[in-house]
Amino acid sequence: MRMKYRILPILADLIPTTLSAYDGILFDDLACCPHCGGVIADYDIRTKQFAVITDGSTKKTIMVRVKRFQCTECRAVVYAHQPFYPGTRIGSPVVDLCITFASMMPYARASTYLKRAGIVVDRWSVRNYARRDLTVVTREMYGTRLPESIVSLTTLASHAGERTSIDPSDIISACGYPSLQLTGEYQRAKEAKKPGTGDNYTLHFSLILLWVALIDFESFTQYAMVWLSSNLIDLPVFI
Ligand SMILES: [Zn+2]
Repeated sequence: MRMKYRILPILADLIPTTLSAYDGILFDDLACCPHCGGVIADYDIRTKQFAVITDGSTKKTIMVRVKRFQCTECRAVVYAHQPFYPGTRIGSPVVDLCITFASMMPYARASTYLKRAGIVVDRWSVRNYARRDLTVVTREMYGTRLPESIVSLTTLASHAGERTSIDPSDIISACGYPSLQLTGEYQRAKEAKKPGTGDNYTLHFSLILLWVALIDFESFTQYAMVWLSSNLIDLPVFI
């Protein structure tokens, strides 16, 4: 039987809104040289494409900044921890979405579904990311399978309004330390992560969806009241 996959309108709003909350953020955290453990010195700042989002008609490119350092001992130029997998040119949450959707449907359809979720990635890039040796943890949310990174980032972005800025290290953690994947540091960073945060993310994400649904219900009620008052104003009222 051919399964149907549907993008909820709420997700088509939430995913691009979440990714755009990270526009312009600077990632500048690195303790020492990952090659030799040497002392690092400032080098430069690179601007990288994190995601291309769309509302169906217009596109917007979300950029982030990543600081580079030079090791004072082995002279290697190295990047700070960043939300990118090694050797990729788009943010790791977008790669996670590509891999997740490509595991459920053909590449071309995955690209179409991504567009419906507000993310622009062509089918060849979807194929390229899906063929990489990357592990993506997913969650079933309202009938749609989503990468855990997207669920975590949505929660983080929703808290950004309460605080003045988002801590870049929280973003790296929410993304699952992508720039450390395929290195020995990756497992250590995952193990150091506080236990139980995943469950909180699910709860917060559900609350956000409920909140969006309530706003929709409120505007529907207002609309219904206006319609009733304009259409039924001449009817006799029995009180
Ligand atoms: Zn070094």
